[in-house]
Amino acid sequence: MKTMTCRELGGTCDQKLTASSWDEIVGKMTEHVMENHPDVAKEMEKMHTEDPQKWGKEMRPKWEAAAETSE
Ligand SMILES: [Zn+2]
Repeated sequence: MKTMTCRELGGTCDQKLTASSWDEIVGKMTEHVMENHPDVAKEMEKMHTEDPQKWGKEMRPKWEAAAETSE
């Protein structure tokens, strides 16, 4: 498992999100911003429309670099 914060993933709070795979963290982050940060969700949607790869390109290296935890 790896833990990243909302902020590290382009959000605006320090909520920790834990997942075992990149796809899982993307799902959790999407759910989190839709529930908590409608503004961020809108920005991400806009970014996705302009370039579907952009967010992943920026965030995935951070995910890959995050330390594995046994939690
Ligand atoms: Zn957040």
